Amino acid sequence: MQAFYVPVRMFTGENAVKDHLASQLQGRSCLIVTGGSSAKKCGALSDILEVLKKNRIRYAIFDGIRENPTVESCRQAGILAAEQQLEVVLGAGGGSPMDAAKAAAVFAANPEMAEADFYSGSWVNPPKPILLVGTTAGTGSEVTKVAVLTDSAGKKHSMHHDSLYAAAAFGDPRYTATMAPAVTLSTAVDVLAHCCESFFAKGANAYSRSAAAEGIRLLAEPLSRAENGENLTMADRAALYNASILGGLAIAVTGTCFPHNVGYYLTETRQIPHGFASAVFLPRLLSFVKGRAPELFTAFLTMTGLEEDKLLRLVPGALPDLRIAMTPEEITAALPRWENNSSVRKTIGDPTMEDIRAMLTELSV
Ligand code: NAP
Ligand code: FE
Repeated sequence: MQAFYVPVRMFTGENAVKDHLASQLQGRSCLIVTGGSSAKKCGALSDILEVLKKNRIRYAIFDGIRENPTVESCRQAGILAAEQQLEVVLGAGGGSPMDAAKAAAVFAANPEMAEADFYSGSWVNPPKPILLVGTTAGTGSEVTKVAVLTDSAGKKHSMHHDSLYAAAAFGDPRYTATMAPAVTLSTAVDVLAHCCESFFAKGANAYSRSAAAEGIRLLAEPLSRAENGENLTMADRAALYNASILGGLAIAVTGTCFPHNVGYYLTETRQIPHGFASAVFLPRLLSFVKGRAPELFTAFLTMTGLEEDKLLRLVPGALPDLRIAMTPEEITAALPRWENNSSVRKTIGDPTMEDIRAMLTELSV
């Protein structure tokens, strides 16, 4: 059994970009892949540009990545990198620009490739080297080989490939201080979802469970404070960021379980932000595994150091009013996408389609 494979050189802490980006770029030209404004607002882009200018490194910026990025926007970014013969793709932002940068690196090396061929994973040329600068404390995409993208039919898919690991990633928790309160909450509950789902995935091992439990331990207090509307200190921000990387390491080993995949549907059809869309299923995941694997559930509480009540209060405290309201007909029509779905099958206790139906029905009343 492979214990883990996470070949990313990760730099975290104050000035991570200013102190370490140049050594990882090694003078190579790059395409910066980013969103509309947040990398500018939080200071990440100016830190990156300062390093590039100081080292006289050629670059271009593609700032056309939006939330739940489309494969098409990644293709356009990749074509720009190919046209300008840029050697490295540098993603800067939350999970959306980071995931988009991974796909852009594939298209940069294969600019003629069609969307369907991206999902095949058998690319003619290997992706260009990927560097990532994270600005949210959420997805852990910095350390995963996953790119979650929206296809031309509007459906979210997670693409996993060993060559989508970044060569290096940088996280300065100060960048996360400009997140709006709702983004802080949504990204923090995404971390909670990664840690819980990974802990209860069939492929979990001692390494991934330690990372997942420590992630929850780190985030519990700052998340409670954010839920109460308190201002977070930089120590809170650092704890949330470190928790996000631990969550990323955990899902790099196991992948996610049904809450993430069923949550994609809520994001596609109701525009619910990714973290909230996954976390809404966490109380159901926890009660499901408590019934199916009670000893593992007890070990989970021991390792996270949390009382069950406190753990169960974390999620509802963070969620806004989500208005899921699926009719029985809509639930019946949606269920086939989760038959034989790998994220559902990964969940300990083997949830059936009737279990998923019951959870969606319960959320819809
Ligand atoms: P995001 O979609 O990257 O960003 C959400 C919003 O927050 C955007 O409006 C963004 O602005 C803004 N923002 C980002 N950083 C900010 C900052 N420091 N200050 C102020 N605003 C900021 O959010 P995310 O939750 O990090 O990523 C979600 C995506 O990642 C989803 O597509 C999800 O499916 C995927 N995901 C990937 C993995 C993985 O392993 N790869 C795991 C879980 C989820 P801009 O648009 O201007 O950037
Ligand atoms: Fe997630």
